[in-house]
Amino acid sequence: MKAWEKNIRKIAPYVPGEQPKVKDVIKLNTNENPYPPAPEALEANKKFDTDILRLYPDPDATILTEELAKFYGLDKENFFVGVGSDDVLSIAFQTFFNSDKPIMFPNITYSFYCVWADMYKIPYTCPKLDGDFKLVKEDYYAENGGVIFPNPNAPTAILEPLSTIEDILMHNQDVIVIVDEAYIDFGGESAIKLLDKYENLLVVQTFSKARSMAGMRIGYAIGGKRLIKAMNDVKFSINSYTMNQHSLLVGSKIIADREYFNETLKKIVNTRENAKKKLTELGFTFPDSKANFIFVTHEKYKAKDIFEYLKSKNIFVRYFNTPGIDNYLRITIGTDEQMEKLYEALEEYIK
Ligand code: PMP
Repeated sequence: MKAWEKNIRKIAPYVPGEQPKVKDVIKLNTNENPYPPAPEALEANKKFDTDILRLYPDPDATILTEELAKFYGLDKENFFVGVGSDDVLSIAFQTFFNSDKPIMFPNITYSFYCVWADMYKIPYTCPKLDGDFKLVKEDYYAENGGVIFPNPNAPTAILEPLSTIEDILMHNQDVIVIVDEAYIDFGGESAIKLLDKYENLLVVQTFSKARSMAGMRIGYAIGGKRLIKAMNDVKFSINSYTMNQHSLLVGSKIIADREYFNETLKKIVNTRENAKKKLTELGFTFPDSKANFIFVTHEKYKAKDIFEYLKSKNIFVRYFNTPGIDNYLRITIGTDEQMEKLYEALEEYIK
């Protein structure tokens, strides 16, 4: 080993779902929205002048935080925006998890959490979900350096009621509690309601899922002004210009549009409920989903084999080769047409 090699950072990175290089695939593997974003976004997308390319973007992301503030009836100082909620969560880890005590998140959850914890050298413990993949709230009563979990959880799609979130907050008033609500719009009650009561709560949401803008990379945190200021101080200590002006402008145009948003949400939820019936008929079992994906397993067939068969038919779903969940597939809810093709392929496989 050369002397300089020992100073190279070694870390097992997060592995995102595959973005296929070929066209004409049915892509149900990264929880994107199958419908286009709101018409306002498509319209705004056409109107770019050269200054957008030439100038640095607004480091304060004012246009977007102002629109978010208007929409939620809060102040712009209650919002931190970043390059997808991944960026927001990564900054939150660096800002709030600086204790010697371990932070806590479930053993089966968004697999980026342990990567950030390793990356920033944050100690962590991962209480086990119960046999039905549900959070055991009492586990989070232990002393810790902070708490984070998604609600609904990923990849299980299970929603915890607001009463469970509040119970965890009540028992964790000395640390920051982050609720990652990437999938909350598909049927959950947001913890935003609890912000007035718990100054140590940070809620993180994204434009990537229900708002159909994964490509624009927009995420945001909502919290008390002191928390948001602390996150901005960390952000401005790394990179002032994280969000490009294009994303800020397009993102700011769609927040107010509830009509289109609700319409596509309704379509996805209907397709999901139908998928629950179809997948049950095909012999799959799954925890009840309140997200835009379903986490399925089959008694007779191995998840990995089904995954490979579907891929050979150009249908991409997500398989995690992780102990405890390595016989499950996470299937994103697509359009009705896409889902019909999935059911056909599954029927063929099972025959
Ligand atoms: N949180 C959870 C639970 C997720 O599944 C994802 C999507 N991979 C994210 C956060 C990040 O999404 P984005 O960066 O697109 O906002």
